[in-house]
Order: sequence, then C-alpha cells, then structure tokens
Amino acid sequence: MSESKINLLGLDQPALKAFFADIGDKPYRATQVMKWIYHRHVVDFDDMTDLSKAARETLKAKTEIRLPEVAMENWSADGSCKWLLRLECGNCVEAVYIPEAGRSTLCISSQVGCALDCSFCSTARQGFNRNLSSAEIVGQVYLVNRILRHHPGTEDRQITNIVLMGMGEPLLNFQNLVPALSLFMDDLAFGLSKRKVTVSTSGVVPAMDRLKDAIDVSLAVSLHAANDALRDELVPLNKKYPIKELLAACRRFVSTDHKKHIMFEYVMLAGVNDQPEHAHELVRLLRNFPGKVNLIPFNPFPQSGYQRSDQAAIDRFWSILTKGGILTLKRTTRGDDIDAACGQLAGDVTDKSRRHRKFELRRFGEQ
Ligand code: SAH
Repeated sequence: MSESKINLLGLDQPALKAFFADIGDKPYRATQVMKWIYHRHVVDFDDMTDLSKAARETLKAKTEIRLPEVAMENWSADGSCKWLLRLECGNCVEAVYIPEAGRSTLCISSQVGCALDCSFCSTARQGFNRNLSSAEIVGQVYLVNRILRHHPGTEDRQITNIVLMGMGEPLLNFQNLVPALSLFMDDLAFGLSKRKVTVSTSGVVPAMDRLKDAIDVSLAVSLHAANDALRDELVPLNKKYPIKELLAACRRFVSTDHKKHIMFEYVMLAGVNDQPEHAHELVRLLRNFPGKVNLIPFNPFPQSGYQRSDQAAIDRFWSILTKGGILTLKRTTRGDDIDAACGQLAGDVTDKSRRHRKFELRRFGEQ
C-alpha cells in the first residue's frame, strides 16, 4: 500500500542518509538520489541509472516520490498564478506564484486551515484540519517548478524565493516545517539562500526561539497593531504572547547576526489600525529595531467586516513611519483577478476544531 511508503520529498539530507544506512546501503546514495530528484527532475526510480538495480528495487518497494495534485489552476492577467492543490485524503491547500523582474516567489501553505483566529483572515474562518507533512510542504515547490518548466512563457522561470505565507501557521507545524526548510536551502535540493526563504508567523514566541536554534532562515512577523488591546482583537494569539514578549523574541532571533532583520507585516484595515496615531505608536515601538515594515492592503472577502484602507491613508501611514526612521515598504497587490492575495487562500477545509460552527450558522442565516 502506498500509505506505508516513505515519500522521499519529506526527507532532508541527513534523514535520507539515515534511511540508506538503515537499509544497509551507503550514505552517498543520498547524494545520488537527491541529484536525480532535484537537479535532473527525475522521479522514476528506473531512470536513476547510476543506482544499482538492487538499490532501485529497494527504493521502489519502500519509497515513493508523490506530489500534490492540481485541483484548480488559475493564471492571472499579470502573470501570477494560484493553484488549489489536493493532498492525500482529499484535503486541499493553495499556493501562489508571483513573478517579478529577476525573481519568482512562491507562497506556500503549511497547514490545512488554521487554528489561530485572526479576525481579518479568511483561512481562519475555515477552521483547522491538519498539519501538512514535510513532503507536502516541499511538494508544492517541486510541483510548481515542474509546471513552470512546461507552461508557455515561464519555461525559464524556477522558484527563487519561498514565503510561508499561505494557509496555516508554520510555527505550529514546527516538526514538519524544519526538514522542508532544510531542503529549500540545501544545494543538493533547491539551493536557495537563507534570505530567500521566509517563514511568516503570527508570533508563536517559544517556536521562534526553537526556529533560531534549528535553522537559519528569514522571519516575517504579522504585527498589525502596535498596542496590545488592538492586537488582542486582530491576532488573538497576542493574549498569550503580547507585543513586549514578541519583540523580545524578535530581538533574540536577530541577535546572532548583525545583518539580520525582521520583516513586520502590517495589514491596512480602514479606520481600525491605519490612523496617524497608530503610525506614531508603531514608530515608538520599532524605533532602533532591526526590522522593516511591510504595509499590506487588506484583501476583502465576504463577511469579513473590514475594509481596505484607501491609498491616501496608506501613503500617510507610510510617510509617518518613514519620517520616524522606519524602513517601510508598501506591498502592491498582485493576482487581484484570481483572488490570489494574502488571506484569500481558501482551500477545502473540513474544520476539525468545530470552533467556527457558530459563525457558519450565522453566516448562512440559520439559528
Ligand atoms: N500564519 C502566518 C502565515 C500565514 S498569513 C502569519 O500569520 O504570519 C500570511 C500573511 O497574510 C500574514 O501577515 C497575515 O496577517 C496576512 N493576511 C491574512 N489575511 C489577510 C487579508 N485578508 N488581507 C491582507 N493580508 C492578510
């Protein structure tokens, strides 16, 4: 049965070496196999011609290279693309490709749904189903690279930047996340630099420390408010890990490397967190902090209860931060025509927490 086979996309280099040691083979098989999979894009063991016949038979019997299936593919007029990807057990997650001059970013998911309840996020409304395996996290990038190689006009494109900003809270899937990150940065796999692999978190403080100790990647933190009262409302996890603790963890995260900084994400919600006093408060909070702020226009979805700040409010907010000495970027939205923007990633989630049952009943007019 395929369920009992190991999906090789989930094994980082040390794990693959351990696998070959376990079956009594040489550790250098790991190098050979990784080159076939990631450099030559070969997934059929019979085509891995420098492996002995016996090694190939063992791999076929014990392992597989299984990718998510494309359930839906939606190319935007601006060249970005959103995929709905079906995983084993029928669950779906989304991945979004964003091409720019000189780089190709893929936004990937780490969980089916999300257990955190950020008030402005559509994934939150779907509840939580399960963690993705390492192979399912890696499989999103592997599959999209393959699609790009065959899609007219993107043949020369391969993913250069990975952001874990799709569905889910990556740091609540720590164990499966780390081997995937390791493969993203391994020269025998995707070979990306640590600056090009970004984990985004809503602020799971203990896991931020664990991440720092486990692997060197870039970190984005979804801040969205500069005081606890407002952040409690937008990102309920703040009640557990308030801003002071979050910023202390951010400082620890960058402390080992003076070139490191944190990317603070700030979603612009009209009348909620986009006023000049909010900007001044943010300047006071982040002054002298090794970080940048990324202003994200809110992407509306039905029944969200929020509106996107208008451009004037975003520009005003940006100037206050900039004058206050905070390096601030304004994120432009891409893929608007295909609902590809942040927080609009809607898979096919069966909520196992049932936390959202009440909301759904209200939404559909039932009592
Ligand atoms: N759980 C992680 C990663 C997933 S969300 C995190 O919270 O960081 C990725 C980013 O999209 C976060 O900054 C999140 O706050 C933002 N986001 C969520 N919903 C959004 C929406 N409707 N409009 C704009 N940004 C949104």
